[in-house]
Amino acid sequence: MKFNTSVLHTVRPEDKYGSTLPPVYQANAFASESAEQLEKIFNNKAAGYSYTRAGNPTVDAFERRIAALEGGIGAAACASGMFAVTAALMNILRAGDEVIVSTGLFGGTIDLFEDLEAFGIVPVFLESITYETVTEAITPRTRAVFTELIGNPRLDITDIESVSKACRENRIPLIVDSTTATPFLIKPLKHGADIVIHSSSKYINGSSNSISGIIVDGGRFKWDAERYPGFARYSKFGIFAFLSKLRNGIWRNMGGCLSPFNAYMNIIGLETLGLRMERCCHSAKDLAEFLETQKGITVNYPALGSSPFKELADRLLGGKGGGILTVRAGSRERAYRLMNSLKYASVATNIGDVRTLIIHPAGTIYTHHTGQQRASAGVYDDTVRISVGIEDTEDLIGDFAQAIAALDKE
Ligand SMILES: *Cc1c(COP(=O)(O)O)cnc(C)c1O
Repeated sequence: MKFNTSVLHTVRPEDKYGSTLPPVYQANAFASESAEQLEKIFNNKAAGYSYTRAGNPTVDAFERRIAALEGGIGAAACASGMFAVTAALMNILRAGDEVIVSTGLFGGTIDLFEDLEAFGIVPVFLESITYETVTEAITPRTRAVFTELIGNPRLDITDIESVSKACRENRIPLIVDSTTATPFLIKPLKHGADIVIHSSSKYINGSSNSISGIIVDGGRFKWDAERYPGFARYSKFGIFAFLSKLRNGIWRNMGGCLSPFNAYMNIIGLETLGLRMERCCHSAKDLAEFLETQKGITVNYPALGSSPFKELADRLLGGKGGGILTVRAGSRERAYRLMNSLKYASVATNIGDVRTLIIHPAGTIYTHHTGQQRASAGVYDDTVRISVGIEDTEDLIGDFAQAIAALDKE
């Protein structure tokens, strides 16, 4: 099956009435037929549901679809992408552990690593995550490598094939936030990643109607209890050790579960992910090529010949570059004027919507970061991030053309 077929047909709805979509089980609790049965469910001795924070059939339907699509052995859905990142890290790390991370990460994730320092988790930031830089940064305390597949907003592509080699040689798991790439462009587990995370608030949902996240496990990493003492109790679960520990621990106990209704909205969104991504990638490339011809504007888009990441986009993403590009307008003032002149692009802090969205990252997401942190994240005073939607490409290009013409008139 190719992508769009597999999205619709890999996991079949199991509803007894044959409903084509999974029913929304909008309930907190599930009654068991007996006291004995509930005891079994509570102790993982029988399949079934007890309480939605620990599991829900609609949420489960979403988890199974994403796990199948990514080629993982299972998944845990979360209330947000940030909770997915938090829970995945806290399931692995303990005080004193180091985690190697990219400086080009999403602003919220950079902030999170600062918060985790209060719990003794030490982030080691690298300007670029490659086989060589990771190998050199690994110490006896390193317990994970965390990176984004296409950095948001730096738009650098991580060569996870070679980075995962460095991780394997040192018995360290590679965690990849693949939000901006989506399984349409790449299935990171097939290229060496051990755990994949999505903010499904973005492309997977598609219409920006549900904040949500998901953690998918490839089931390949060996959680040796000497290096990962928290896993000792879970080694009996074999390849399911990571997910069992997560679902019985941090994920359930911190309580960042996904609402059944939001899981349902994500299942609907997921069904058109391939169509939307195809369109967004095409339009983003056409828009990037158009903007590159405009005086006073520089463009960063990984699938452009001018991008240092073109080779990786060709090798890992089938030549596509995703739906996001950034431009530098020359000054903050010009960036703001460009944004304010656009008719079809909404000024909003989000990506992966059907609508085109624009933002000035330095003035918003990165306001409380240092100049050094901003530059490392590819954020300058004149940078505008564009998340291309599914509007007709000609209309988008026309809109940017008129906005740029207005810039030069003044
Ligand atoms: C948005 C985003 C997140 C956070 O997800 P939320 O659903 O907003 O919590 C994490 N990583 C990346 C790359 C993102 O774009």
